[in-house]
Amino acid sequence: MPVLCDYHLHSHHSGDSSESMEAIVLAAIEKGLKYICFTEHNDYGYPAENGDDPETFVLNVDSYLYELLALKEKYQDQIEISFGLEIGLSPENIRKNAILAREHEYDFIIASTHFESGIDPYYGNYYTGRTDVEANRAYFGATVQNVKAMQNFDVVGHLDYVMRYAPNPQSYNPSDYMDIWENLFEFLLENEKGIELNTGGLRSSFGSIHPAVPVIKRYREMGGELITIGSDAHKAADVGYALSEATDVLKELGFKYYSVYQNRIAEYKKIL
Ligand SMILES: [Zn+2]
Ligand SMILES: [Zn+2]
Repeated sequence: MPVLCDYHLHSHHSGDSSESMEAIVLAAIEKGLKYICFTEHNDYGYPAENGDDPETFVLNVDSYLYELLALKEKYQDQIEISFGLEIGLSPENIRKNAILAREHEYDFIIASTHFESGIDPYYGNYYTGRTDVEANRAYFGATVQNVKAMQNFDVVGHLDYVMRYAPNPQSYNPSDYMDIWENLFEFLLENEKGIELNTGGLRSSFGSIHPAVPVIKRYREMGGELITIGSDAHKAADVGYALSEATDVLKELGFKYYSVYQNRIAEYKKIL
């Protein structure tokens, strides 16, 4: 039986989505999900190009929370809705991010890295002038540094996210970067934090879950148990995307539980 959660969801409160929150909730109920968490984007210092607004990913938390509370009550008998945040990290915004994370009573915080050295790979020039391995190592290394500087979060988002924009995703070999991930996992295990399995990569040219299976396997081998599962949906049609595949991967790797959160406390749900 697939897991009954989707813990990575965006609505119109995120700068890159125009979906209504209610459409997302209804899609989740329709798919039989029991636990969902909105994880709206906030990215300070977004390096906008092509005339995009650098404030695109600055979240209006109050209007987001206001709408969420109404839906939480309206659908309380059908689904548990949590109040989450996907906080985009960068070395220049450590203080601002720390304030944002403690300013509201979130249920759950995903710490993600969406850009590095002032370049957002979304715009397509992240790999220019260096090898793929050099670019990936720079990105993954920044992810680890950002997470260590942040501390106030629950899971690290979509670990090999940059592969969504890599020119040659088929040549990606996760074992080339395992030293970086092991360093991260040691930190997470010491600090009782986890990772997420993000099915959004399956909808990109990467064609894989994030992180790639060998990376999740290493996390498990090192003793990692805390894991959340999310579709990274930005529209209702993607809610609960590939949860069966995600469940199969976790079972195969020996995970017994996935996590959902309330008030920043993980609740373990059995994988059936
Ligand atoms: Zn993200
Ligand atoms: Zn996201």
